[in-house]
Amino acid sequence: MDNQFRSLNLAKKALKRIKYLTPSHEVKFCHVCGTHEWVITHYGIRSLLPNKIDVIAGPGCPVCIVPAKEIDEAVWLALNKATVLTFGDIIRVPGSKISLAQAKALGGKVKIVYSVKDAVEIAKQKPNEEFVFFAIGFETTAPSTALEAARNPPKNLSFLISHRLIPPVMELLLGIGDLHIDGFIAPGHVSTIIGLKPYEVFPKVYKMPTVIAGFEPLDVLFALIILLKQISHGEAKLENEYSRSVKWNGNLKAQKLINEVFNVTDGFWRGLGKVPASALKLKEKYSSLDAKLKYEIKLNSPSKDLLPGCSCHLVIIGKIKPTECPLFMKACTPQTPKGSCMVSMEGTCAIWAKHGASTKKVEN
Ligand code: SF4
Repeated sequence: MDNQFRSLNLAKKALKRIKYLTPSHEVKFCHVCGTHEWVITHYGIRSLLPNKIDVIAGPGCPVCIVPAKEIDEAVWLALNKATVLTFGDIIRVPGSKISLAQAKALGGKVKIVYSVKDAVEIAKQKPNEEFVFFAIGFETTAPSTALEAARNPPKNLSFLISHRLIPPVMELLLGIGDLHIDGFIAPGHVSTIIGLKPYEVFPKVYKMPTVIAGFEPLDVLFALIILLKQISHGEAKLENEYSRSVKWNGNLKAQKLINEVFNVTDGFWRGLGKVPASALKLKEKYSSLDAKLKYEIKLNSPSKDLLPGCSCHLVIIGKIKPTECPLFMKACTPQTPKGSCMVSMEGTCAIWAKHGASTKKVEN
């Protein structure tokens, strides 16, 4: 650990504090961010925690939660109408029948871009060809999509919007009867955009301790200390461990862009079904940019989020650990992903596969 947020000495002290604050009953904290899962797994944090504390991974990977129907739509577009431009990981996510990568192998037009700005440039360079930007991601990537949409992009570029919002899905988790959660570790990146306000509902309405955390190992340990303190005092508060990056109001400019271009609508999440008010949709003013309206997408059969044997729907809500899926590192590996959680480096199964993670505790 080479910086102040990775100090071994401080980590040892934090772990002592965690041990001291651990209640006699079991507590389960849920994070909703692929990067938090990476930090927790990469640094072996779960194995250092007392047995009574579990940290589960919620639906915080932007690639994992894209429903098969939206992959199928992108595949149809790539095979029939336009070049689909999108971020790297999403092209390997299984659709109901094939992924975008497989569509490409069949002659479909698919190209990886690093930003929506790149997509605009590519469309400008080839005005006689049709392009669709497949826009995925949470509140973190939505502002850049909104920016380019508002800038009057070239007529041969349209958008397949698959943006999702984090606080509504956190609310959904609390409604899952047999999923007990004692506190949230809220995502730092998303919070830099939305600020703290959208999380107020969790302590106020659900009496759920909620702490926004950064992405260094000590950020996660400090967040756990804050959550455990609230529990030991019988409190439920919203606190900000990541104050060096997250402000109360968030990024107002980014919020304004999102509000200018998008309306909030109900959205489907892979394996979770419909989540109320959890997705973004282009406003009527921008409807000429909507690929779904521009092209009559024809899917011949209902879409399927889960291939036989896949447990991604349970991994995504932290109900099971990846190693509990019968396909994990057998039929499903990072090279041969059977489920969306095994594709991206923000996916819980892919992270566990890479780090050979286990839940075995180190003596502490
Ligand atoms: S191991 Fe594969 S199939 Fe099983 S939950 Fe993970 S991604 Fe889904």
